[in-house]
Amino acid sequence: MSRWTGPWPTDGIAFGADYNPEQWPEEVWADDVALMREAGVTLVSLGIFSWGQLEPAEGQLDFGWLDRILDLLHEAGIRVDLATPSAAPPVWLHLAHPEMLPVDADGLRLTHGSRESWCVSSPVIREHATRIARVLAERYGHHPAVAMWHISNELACHNGRCYCDVSAAAFRDWLGKEYPDVDALNLAWGTAFWGQRYSSFEQVLPPRRTTTIPNPGQRLDFERFSSDAFVAHLEAEAAVLREVTPHLPVTTNYMVMGDFRQIDYTQTTPLIDIVSNDHYLAAEDPRGWAELAFSADRVRGLAGGDPWLLMEHSTSAVNWQPRNLAKQPGQLLRNSLQHVARGADGVLFFQWRQSRAGAEKFHSGMVPHAGADSELFREVAHLGATLGRLAEVRGSVVEKGRVALLWDTQAWWASELEAHPTVDLHYLDLPRALHGALVDAGVAVDVVPATADLDGYDVVLVPTLYLAPADLPDRLSAVVARGGHVLVSYFSGIVDEHDRVLLGGYPGAFRDLLGVRGEEFAPLREGGSVQLSDGSTGLVWTERLTADDAEVLATYADGPSAGGPALTRRTVDGGGAAWYLSTRLDTGSTAALVGRVLDAAGVSPLVDGPGGLEVVRRVGESGSWLFAINHTDTDLPLHATGDDLVGGAAHAAGEMVPARGVKVLRESVVIER
Ligand SMILES: [Zn+2]
Repeated sequence: MSRWTGPWPTDGIAFGADYNPEQWPEEVWADDVALMREAGVTLVSLGIFSWGQLEPAEGQLDFGWLDRILDLLHEAGIRVDLATPSAAPPVWLHLAHPEMLPVDADGLRLTHGSRESWCVSSPVIREHATRIARVLAERYGHHPAVAMWHISNELACHNGRCYCDVSAAAFRDWLGKEYPDVDALNLAWGTAFWGQRYSSFEQVLPPRRTTTIPNPGQRLDFERFSSDAFVAHLEAEAAVLREVTPHLPVTTNYMVMGDFRQIDYTQTTPLIDIVSNDHYLAAEDPRGWAELAFSADRVRGLAGGDPWLLMEHSTSAVNWQPRNLAKQPGQLLRNSLQHVARGADGVLFFQWRQSRAGAEKFHSGMVPHAGADSELFREVAHLGATLGRLAEVRGSVVEKGRVALLWDTQAWWASELEAHPTVDLHYLDLPRALHGALVDAGVAVDVVPATADLDGYDVVLVPTLYLAPADLPDRLSAVVARGGHVLVSYFSGIVDEHDRVLLGGYPGAFRDLLGVRGEEFAPLREGGSVQLSDGSTGLVWTERLTADDAEVLATYADGPSAGGPALTRRTVDGGGAAWYLSTRLDTGSTAALVGRVLDAAGVSPLVDGPGGLEVVRRVGESGSWLFAINHTDTDLPLHATGDDLVGGAAHAAGEMVPARGVKVLRESVVIER
């Protein structure tokens, strides 16, 4: 649940970008603001990387340019999400305090000259970041343009782990609070193995580069410590802003996208008022839109179902992937409305005007190098106008799904440590595959942290949750006891919170719930597959399993676990069931299994139809809105009725959503909340 009970920063759905006027001569600014009005921009993030301009030398503050641009934006009715500039400390600070620069696991101290070049445990950055935040809050906290605070930028994006001596001391302090004494640490980390026993905390180091596999308990605790250090940094900046400007909401832009996992965001949501996220497609992924949907659902899960803000995405290409594909015509609108469908009440970009110089000059912007007389700017203006017509959607929420998919950053950290049964198991693969199958089937799903309340869900999916919260088995048992269906996958519930294996047979945490017992993992050779007795195909992983208290739904027809159970189900009185999947299914088999579980639970798609459309419903006080996004090259029928706010015409049941098109229906049938 969001902390913020005050007004949303904009009247309708927020639309805009990071705005970096300091990159341009001042005579460009009036043109910027005029074009922003033409495009329908309502919110810009200002000052993210401008510490060097704001404070060219220690204590010497230059507010003139920021005063002028804030006034200009205010006159144009554009609201400002004002940033604290800690993502890019000025060069003078680095030169005065080279000890604040991060050190990598090889002991190499990085240098200034890019961004985020600071150690999160450094008292220097903490002191100066909170100092400049206070300066900004005191000067601009009551400027009429300022609507919210943007703390730093993409925290931990580049400096997520630091191995310097300052970090080492902070890590030891953290361990001293986690463990009553060093013997407890020895037990937790299993230091009896390889004779790694410590006789005092003072002997402990961060997991710097060593000869071979480092201690996994040490590695996992270092992940937690590092994440906590960023949480503490966020908390310190937020505390200053709240003290000076309690009337303004604060956010920090998450990076719930791709493989980023430097911060356990569940620890940060209590500290911010409005959840916001940056999302960039993996341009070469043909199902990048599905990863976008997965990301947006994870963000909504972090926001407790409340509306959130898409703080950054791209109008077209980025510049930091190997091959930066430009978006296809219409993709800008589809991608943007996907986020809105899944709960975003704002669509912002990096950045307003494409840079002329600097590291990201080939990253697209709202105003490209070609200028406003361009297809891209016309698409931007079209999106702005479309979002204007969707203003009534703001404040509604995504209809709660009957299916929950659990994910957990701690499980992610632990499951991808070194020396595991196969290098082919990547934590997010199965969550993404299951989510993709649900999206393809048109079934609403909530992607929620593994600690979330599971009340109200008829299906709970538990993919590769290697390290599960200690109370999860009981909570899942409760779901099954009230008639729900739980699907647990391979490599779930394997270890305790210190990455120590739960003994007596896999999966230790869920053995009773599932009625199965695994004796050995039997992963496949690279690129290998196995056949299951029900015609499914398994990849990557199998297990040698017995099912003493569960029905065997499919066995392995071949491969290293041939003859043994592959898919099982333990049904309890009342009709609920706990399913166990001990292999990674291919795409078609995954869809079939998901369909089977949904059928058993009586969960159906949001609308009847042939599938293939991404369909999401938002519900509010005044009605409901059905988003239908066609990612295919074929027109697809949508069996729902309402007024299409995108195209401006009525939609009758069975009419088409054009290939690569989007409709947002204000539904004529009132959906009960
Ligand atoms: Zn450090």
